[in-house]
Amino acid sequence: MLFLLAIVLLLVAVVLIKTLTFKSIQPKYAATKNVEVSENAIAHLQQGIRFKTVSFSDSAKTDSSVFLALHRYLAQTYPLVHQKLALEKVAHYSLVYTWKGKNPTLKPVILMAHQDVVPVEKASLLQWKTDPFGGSIQNGKLYGRGTADDKISLFSLLEAAEKLLQENYQPKRSIYFVFGHDEEAGGKGVKAVAALLKSRGIKADWVLDEGGEITKKEIPGLQGKPVALIGTSEKGYLSIDLKVNIEGGHSSMPKPETAVDVLIAAIQKLRAKPFPASFGGSTGDFFKYLGPEMPFTTKMAIANQWLFKPLLFKIYEKSAGGNALIRTTIAPTILQAGVKDNVIPTSASATINFRLLPGTSINAVSKHVKEAINDNRVQLIKENAFAEEASAVTSTQSSGFKQLEKAVIENYPGTLIAPYLTVGATDSRQMAGIANCILRFSPVTDLEGMHGLNENISVKEYPKAISFYYRLMKELK
Ligand SMILES: [Zn+2]
Repeated sequence: MLFLLAIVLLLVAVVLIKTLTFKSIQPKYAATKNVEVSENAIAHLQQGIRFKTVSFSDSAKTDSSVFLALHRYLAQTYPLVHQKLALEKVAHYSLVYTWKGKNPTLKPVILMAHQDVVPVEKASLLQWKTDPFGGSIQNGKLYGRGTADDKISLFSLLEAAEKLLQENYQPKRSIYFVFGHDEEAGGKGVKAVAALLKSRGIKADWVLDEGGEITKKEIPGLQGKPVALIGTSEKGYLSIDLKVNIEGGHSSMPKPETAVDVLIAAIQKLRAKPFPASFGGSTGDFFKYLGPEMPFTTKMAIANQWLFKPLLFKIYEKSAGGNALIRTTIAPTILQAGVKDNVIPTSASATINFRLLPGTSINAVSKHVKEAINDNRVQLIKENAFAEEASAVTSTQSSGFKQLEKAVIENYPGTLIAPYLTVGATDSRQMAGIANCILRFSPVTDLEGMHGLNENISVKEYPKAISFYYRLMKELK
């Protein structure tokens, strides 16, 4: 009994010591005053929303005249940017601005945003509070498709650059603005930009694109406190078609197993064998940055993963969003079989979409799927159209990360910094060949309606977004 008691006491002591020595690593910077921005800034963004720069999966449907009209509007609205920076159009509509730095031997920085937006479903129009392409303001909010994703970044970057040019500022190292035109449809534009920059031998010091935001709602235990989620990696993307061919026949005499049965069993076997969970990479960094800021019991669990990891996994697995952060996910998305109610189909197929955790390769996913299904009658066909390996993980010790966190804290005082894993794909992945340090963050707070209804940003927040990019560029190291 005494021995058991001693073990328990020792365990408690270790847990407590680990918790109490789990100290904050949040960077400390003094807040600086927000810069004065042009009073027309919000009107510029409103006008920007009115260009229906919609991306469709079928690029033939894209209305190129709208993109060209947007380009003309940008040239009119930001005259100094268009006078002093070199502008190239790549893949017809993607924009690359080069702002020459004072020291050409330094590696440039690439700041990104995308021009295109996702379509608005006709059936959902009645549920919008305003015309999604009207650019109107109601109750302090600017509504419209693209306000948050991603025109706020594009316009506030140009607004900040125009102001810096008015002040005769020239950065130490060159800055590229890269504004893709088809991020929502695969990102061929930025792929071409990356290839062009690579052909010129350009290596970037760091890259900033969309993919993270400030949240006051999303982090359990920290509700109410602003947390800047800075994407230091992003998941990979893969779709695999499962196909079964078994001779069908008349539905009045079904065989014990049809193509449909084999396919459904395969999907069930796969779903029953999820990929292993992990707290590595960006999610591990997330815990290092936020763990010490959490309420005591959460802090204790994170500080003592050697004991509480299974419990933490359980908590994360409970929500779809949490689960996506800790493992490669499996989602059946398209099912196809059958043409008539009295005919047993000869062929049945399913598309399974995977989002790969950094560290898990496309090949490893194929192997997992084969082993889980373990049935030769199920063919695996890899859909290569959009297959992307997961990104590398950007170090929180990199100069880019440090500069970004400084600009965030100076501009949004009291905000906690959190590296994290971006679950969706961004155009920045195309830059992997020319940059080791890729960061994903937009200066918005708890954006609403992204890809959904009533997308909007707060009018009051917009000058802060401009101020953020202004500071980031002005303090560029
Ligand atoms: Zn976007």
